[in-house]
Amino acid sequence: MVSKLPLFIMSLLRPKVSPRPHPSSEPKSAPPTMAQSLGNEHTHAMIYKSNLMKLSQDSDSDKMEIEDLEDNIDLAFGKFMRAHKCYDLIPTSAKLVIFDTQLNVKKAFFALVYNGVRAAPLWDSKQQDYVGMLTITDFINILKMYYKSPLVKIDELEDHKIDTWRDLFKTQQKKFVCIDPDESLFDAVKRLLESHVHRLPVIEKATGNAIYILTHKRILRYLYLYMKDLPSPGFMSQTLEELNIGTLKNVITATKETPLIKALNLFVQHRISALPVTDNQGKIVDIYAKFDVINLAAEKTYNNLDITIEQALLHRDQQGVESVARCMATETLKSVIERIVKAEVHRLVIVNEKDTVTGVISLSDILKYIVLRPMETH
Ligand code: ADP
Ligand code: ADP
Ligand code: AMP
Repeated sequence: MVSKLPLFIMSLLRPKVSPRPHPSSEPKSAPPTMAQSLGNEHTHAMIYKSNLMKLSQDSDSDKMEIEDLEDNIDLAFGKFMRAHKCYDLIPTSAKLVIFDTQLNVKKAFFALVYNGVRAAPLWDSKQQDYVGMLTITDFINILKMYYKSPLVKIDELEDHKIDTWRDLFKTQQKKFVCIDPDESLFDAVKRLLESHVHRLPVIEKATGNAIYILTHKRILRYLYLYMKDLPSPGFMSQTLEELNIGTLKNVITATKETPLIKALNLFVQHRISALPVTDNQGKIVDIYAKFDVINLAAEKTYNNLDITIEQALLHRDQQGVESVARCMATETLKSVIERIVKAEVHRLVIVNEKDTVTGVISLSDILKYIVLRPMETH
């Protein structure tokens, strides 16, 4: 595979060289603390304090903020994220695929599928620098732009190099956003949310090495593992509707009969990452996510986008209403976070007692509310 694609650089199982000792790189569970056995609110705060002191001993400002934690419990998650570095959640070995911008776009999307990854940083060998990312959204943009009918082959997908396509899309392109492993997880959350991207490459400033791609999913899972040892902010016990978190009106949905090309247009037009699929009464029956579009590359079926969502979903192992991870607006934020982390999905569909879709809550809504908002409104 690699020899057929000379411009496709692949870095596998990169050994991690940490600038200093840090906790286990694959945080399967939070470090054990006395809080579990003592189980009182105040002790939690104290133990949290000492954990953080240990992890942030090189920063005076962190120590000062941690000292007044008890008075500002709403800031606990934000401060925790500020006291941890991106390095802390990077696994010891991970697969990272990097594309040279001279690579043909079709080969690039096949390479994403072949390697089981969702995105790849783009390397420009003329500039000797990273210039952007290639994600499933880009695949959608290409299909949407060039698709005419099932009878007309999408030649541009065959002919274009990543470079050619990026030149045509110049005006809509985002400036490359990345983060150094020594920067804090708080900065990672801020950058992901402010740039409206779902992939944040971690690149060592000193060496230019790309080492990992951070996502909302990975970050919330990391915070979740430590949550039981942190003081719990009051908002965690309030319901979604009390907090007005997530999108609780104007939900964009599709039906099983919606043509795939229309679904792709909805993704781009509304900048959403999934469409709850409903019946004619608005009841949830399934979900179609941007991620599922990569299957068109996997099965080489991208030349017919007139198929329905129902047909497009046939590839997925799990289908139907039971497979949709959902919640109700009357549930507490704490239980919603637990469900979304365990379901390993980017969003939960919010339904009422009749299973009618009333909203969506995504990882970006949650991270914004529990990490960014308290720190910015303080
Ligand atoms: P997806 O959800 O499909 O994985 P994103 O929503 O992150 O992808 O991508 C939206 C657009 O932003 C795409 O054109 C993608 O190439 C671009 N993009 C994604 N991540 C970055 C980044 N870190 N820097 C610059 N552009 C990015
Ligand atoms: P990503 O990790 O790229 O953000 P997603 O979580 O959006 O990916 O989607 C991964 C898979 O999970 C897709 O097949 C998608 O259809 C499915 N999926 C997404 N959201 C839900 C949900 N709420 N319930 C059930 N399945 C979901
Ligand atoms: P995401 O890209 O999934 O992180 O979500 C970005 C924003 O869009 C969040 O505020 C979500 O609540 C919202 N959102 C996601 N999917 C939908 C949808 N189908 N309809 C309306 N809003 C959505």
